[in-house]
Amino acid sequence: MSKLACPRCKTNKTRFYLIEQHPKAVKLNAQSGDIEQEEYISGGLDPFYVPYKGPEYLVQCGACGVIEQSVLFEKAADSM
Ligand SMILES: [Zn+2]
Repeated sequence: MSKLACPRCKTNKTRFYLIEQHPKAVKLNAQSGDIEQEEYISGGLDPFYVPYKGPEYLVQCGACGVIEQSVLFEKAADSM
């Protein structure tokens, strides 16, 4: 993977958490908030769902705890 550096504390370049995103589509009952239906993204969704567009994973700095998208950690590594 790319080199990373924390964009906030700027000292950490080695200790990170990679937070993998496993989005799950849910359909709620609008009155109760109960989940009426849930499916993993790869499953068949009804046509009103746009595909998940978020990042595959987020990064948490193991030193200061900030959580951001990996691109911000990559940019910080490039600028140091
Ligand atoms: Zn940090």
